[in-house]
Amino acid sequence: MFMNRRKKVLVIGLDCAPPELVFEQWRDELPNFKRVMDHGAWGKLESCIPAITVPAWSSMMSSKDPGTLGFYGFRNRGDYSYEKNTLANSNSVKTDRVWDVLSRAGKKVITVGVPQTYPPKPVNGIQVGCFLTPSTKNPERPYTYPASVMQEIESIVGEYLVDVPNFRTDDKDYLLRQIYSMTEKRLKLVKKWIAEKDWDFFMFVEMGTDRIHHGLWKYHDPTHHKYEVHPVFNESIHNYYRYLDNEIGQILDLVDENTTVFIVSDHGAKKMDGGICVNEWLIQEGYLTLKSMPSSLTAIDKCEIDWSKTRVWGDGGYYARIFLNIEGREPQGIVKPGEVEALRDELKAKFEAIVDPHGVHIGTTVYKPREIYHEVNGVPPDLIVYFGDLFWRSVGTVGHGSIYTFENDTGPDDCNHAQFGIVIKHDPQVDEGPGGRELSGLQLMDMAPTILKQLDVPVPADMQGRAF
Ligand SMILES: [Zn+2]
Repeated sequence: MFMNRRKKVLVIGLDCAPPELVFEQWRDELPNFKRVMDHGAWGKLESCIPAITVPAWSSMMSSKDPGTLGFYGFRNRGDYSYEKNTLANSNSVKTDRVWDVLSRAGKKVITVGVPQTYPPKPVNGIQVGCFLTPSTKNPERPYTYPASVMQEIESIVGEYLVDVPNFRTDDKDYLLRQIYSMTEKRLKLVKKWIAEKDWDFFMFVEMGTDRIHHGLWKYHDPTHHKYEVHPVFNESIHNYYRYLDNEIGQILDLVDENTTVFIVSDHGAKKMDGGICVNEWLIQEGYLTLKSMPSSLTAIDKCEIDWSKTRVWGDGGYYARIFLNIEGREPQGIVKPGEVEALRDELKAKFEAIVDPHGVHIGTTVYKPREIYHEVNGVPPDLIVYFGDLFWRSVGTVGHGSIYTFENDTGPDDCNHAQFGIVIKHDPQVDEGPGGRELSGLQLMDMAPTILKQLDVPVPADMQGRAF
């Protein structure tokens, strides 16, 4: 009876959803997650390095590592000058992602909010831009492909929200209202299109999970150093997952038995213990020299750096990017090319020895791009640093008067990213047995070939992951 079976794939992306909550802590309280897990296959999904939204979703959907893609975060150096920074939106993605391959194979695709899909590109179907969309109202720069879909979306949900504006806020009531408003609109749209549009591949990514973790983790996690008892906020992440679970149940009821459903995240979440002020540290250690110390918190690119006495500088974010001031590469480089490797090793050893304010070793890991990627394109950092296994973030500003800070320089933020996200695969034609089958050893890049295989489309030879 399945002679003409039309296989379909639905990918539900939950940015930042961690295995600890979905698979362990709340497994029995989320009946719809549990339903797909119990009949499917599920496991931790290792993120890329760095484990952040850009590049993670593009790595997942192109099956290429960040070095091959040539971007290492939202912000990248545009060249080897000191000034040029670029933002990695869809224009930075020079390779096919799964919907490009599927479009060429004649499959109908719909993507909604997948990070790095603004500006949207032509597909055989619909592409709705991601959280990088600056405006949903500018017909000159449509956030959808085709552009006419902008109006269709407005007629369904009113003003569509690609993200929560100013999500790093102390006004948590506002934050929660905005998150629910955004998610409700997106899910209303997605449910309508899943039911009514013609598609072989449908993927959407919900950013609310990421925003609620960053904004409210200190209320959720009693071991957080800023944990507070609060009548509403303590349960806010838990309640949001219950709400999502109910929505996922409705979505599952809309798809037929030929549709394989994936629930996937790009990285996990963990409490943030504090920040390491990476440039303060470099100054203390004599690697970085400023012409004058700023009197208040100042971004490193606003500081007057004495390049003739600077060998190393760094950037902030969930991880640190470290740059060497190399002779012949940077305009005023002073590190001799022959000394680069020794300097990198010296920095790696010192970073990995960093202790917290109580003298306790925090377990920092330092990566050399050439050792972790197939190719190294664009302008990579010379070193990538995970402070304290990502329990500590990297703070790039100067003026803290210490290498430690417990306030985030870009606004309140309670959580950092963790290296492992989740994947659940539910193919109604394959019963994986009671409790489902636990998967192990999977990495983001395994997703794209798995989706293609599921849809019987050949996997391009340059994809770096393996189908599961
Ligand atoms: Zn993310």
